[in-house]
Amino acid sequence: MFKLTVKKDFAAAHKLDNYQGSCAFLHGHTWLVEATVCGEELDDCGMLIDFKILKSMLGDIIKPFDHSYLNDLEIFNHNQIKINPTAENLAHYIFQEMKRQLIGTYPKTRILAVMVCESPEASAVYQEA
Ligand SMILES: [Zn+2]
Repeated sequence: MFKLTVKKDFAAAHKLDNYQGSCAFLHGHTWLVEATVCGEELDDCGMLIDFKILKSMLGDIIKPFDHSYLNDLEIFNHNQIKINPTAENLAHYIFQEMKRQLIGTYPKTRILAVMVCESPEASAVYQEA
């Protein structure tokens, strides 16, 4: 199996509801996102999928987050239910979007994991069991 990883970052503010501590107050991070895809078959060029395509896909997914206040975005306010924009929830959302886009356009490549780091010391990974 081949595994490919691309990385992108964005700057955004958030605050955490129902949380006791300094993260309950408005603050920001430069978030680093790593998306790993996998597959068995290489194309005629010797690639699983072009890194350029993966970077573009990930870039388009996280574009609405850049220089935003995450709590106000629609994906964290679904059907009147507020979802905390934690690293975990960001990783889950990005994973589902990558999965949906890859199934539609590159069915031989599947998303394996998405990691979201809110600092060099703290990261969350989402992957399916
Ligand atoms: Zn934070």
